[in-house]
Amino acid sequence: MRKKIVAGNWKMNLSFEEGQQLTSELVNMFKDEAIQDVVVVINPPFPHLYPVQRLVGDTAGVFLGAQNCSDKESGAFTGEVSAKILASFGVSYVILGHSERREYFKEDQTLLATKVNQALAHGLTPIFCCGESLEIRESGTHEETVKAQVTASLFHLSPEEFSKVVIAYEPIWAIGTGKTASAEQAQEMHAALRSHLASKYGQAIAEQTSILYGGSANPGNAKELFGKPDVDGGLIGGASLKSRDFIEIVKSF
Ligand code: PEP
Repeated sequence: MRKKIVAGNWKMNLSFEEGQQLTSELVNMFKDEAIQDVVVVINPPFPHLYPVQRLVGDTAGVFLGAQNCSDKESGAFTGEVSAKILASFGVSYVILGHSERREYFKEDQTLLATKVNQALAHGLTPIFCCGESLEIRESGTHEETVKAQVTASLFHLSPEEFSKVVIAYEPIWAIGTGKTASAEQAQEMHAALRSHLASKYGQAIAEQTSILYGGSANPGNAKELFGKPDVDGGLIGGASLKSRDFIEIVKSF
């Protein structure tokens, strides 16, 4: 059975104190309200990773993720953080291909493929984001666009490598806009993605790949989204900054 995953993406938010406060609240809530069968990933900005890790400790089901990693192994790349360094700090997941990185930092499909390789080489699970703009959705080419993103940055992987990847479908028009894809729209895309994965890696691998939905998910819509057969969880931005909202989302399964 594939994993159910809820990953919180703090983006470039929260001071040290605020991050510690939020993490303490989450850890306490997870202790009080044991969350069964859901993997929770906290993806704070880089400087938070180590102090957040210390607070999370061995809390069952809670893992640490980064929001990015370098495409390089190591060396003179000022300002970059490698997958190798992240792994050595106990990080387990890394978000790659987020639309904000594609748009503002001009990360292209080839660079993303290299980052995916780096992540996998150091034992990190990539949470690979894909999604279409409003313009593309309105033109009706959203499925082929999203499939092409996956093909370009992931389909060079061997079946063994690919089976370690998590996919997050994030329609750009729904990110941070308060406009969520309907559960039906999410299901339709997730099912299309799964059959695309099956065409390359076979049904068994496609069936065990977790495909998360991201884009203005909140406690009010998570239950309906997660109730769809091909929606295996969420990548949560804004609502991951409020402990109660985040926990409610985790409990939506
Ligand atoms: C995201 O940035 O990955 C995201 C889903 O953001 P939000 O939940 O705020 O739309």
